[in-house]
Amino acid sequence: MYEGAVQDLIDELGRLPGVGPKSAQRIAFHLLATDAADVRRLVDALTEVKARVQFCETCGNVAESDTCRICADPRRTAEVICVVEEPKDVVAIERTREFRGKYHVLGGAINPIDNVGPDDLRIGQLMSRLADGTVTEVILATDPNVEGEATATYLSRLIGPMGVTVSRLASGLPVGGDLEYADEVTLGRAFEGRRVVGS
Ligand SMILES: [Zn+2]
Repeated sequence: MYEGAVQDLIDELGRLPGVGPKSAQRIAFHLLATDAADVRRLVDALTEVKARVQFCETCGNVAESDTCRICADPRRTAEVICVVEEPKDVVAIERTREFRGKYHVLGGAINPIDNVGPDDLRIGQLMSRLADGTVTEVILATDPNVEGEATATYLSRLIGPMGVTVSRLASGLPVGGDLEYADEVTLGRAFEGRRVVGS
């Protein structure tokens, strides 16, 4: 629709999650009108994040080295693992200050419509972490929607027989939503009131 560079930018922006063609166009024209120095800062931030940030080898959270800050923290118990879908969920739970264990980031949820099956998630890595018997409880904090529930059910069936306590966040979270949309108090309460499932 537009010429060369502008259209390239719109196309690239349009590939981002949640950015439709109209938003892509709006952002592109916003950037065109923005000072070169401000655009440079955005470019630098993008370059830096790709150069410096990786995923933690243990839990899959974002990290600036092989191991993330939470996995490397000796004050956090290794006996409880909280399973979440995305790194942003780690941030949401950290904000509640209710949890002093470690995390495991799946990288999504089981979703047959989008062809995401258990093998596409970091479930094998989770099983490896449970193998040595250190972990006594796994808290399933997948999103309160159909995919999150399906993933939690799948995991509880898999982990329950291993003799590890499996719990799920209490209800009260906005149903159909995303963990990150819950406010700290609600999420903290859901954490405290978690119930044992499966086994
Ligand atoms: Zn980690």
